[in-house]
Amino acid sequence: MVGLRYLSNVVSLELDRSKCNGCRKCVEVCPHAVYVIEEKRAIIVDRDACMECGACAQNCEPGAITVRSGVGCAAAFIYSALTGTEPCCGDSGSPTCCG
Ligand code: SF4
Ligand code: SF4
Repeated sequence: MVGLRYLSNVVSLELDRSKCNGCRKCVEVCPHAVYVIEEKRAIIVDRDACMECGACAQNCEPGAITVRSGVGCAAAFIYSALTGTEPCCGDSGSPTCCG
């Protein structure tokens, strides 16, 4: 799935490198090669490739990663593609809404 992209700068993914212990789990579980390890800690190298699946955050023991999985633009576009409906994230009107 590496290479799949949708919109720029709408992903909710955040990484707090100060909490990272360099375990590499995020690198191993991310299906879109969003992370690499640099100087013993993870960095985000391709934020816009993130599809907000949540796997990295679920596997990050120190809680260095936050992502709003299953909501927002990524989920809306995936659901739209699967169902043939218009994308709707259900977040319209919120301060973080991009629409
Ligand atoms: S899973 Fe968390 S602690 Fe492990 S390398 Fe990734 S960000 Fe760092
Ligand atoms: S939420 Fe999923 S796609 Fe996004 S960085 Fe984490 S594992 Fe990769």
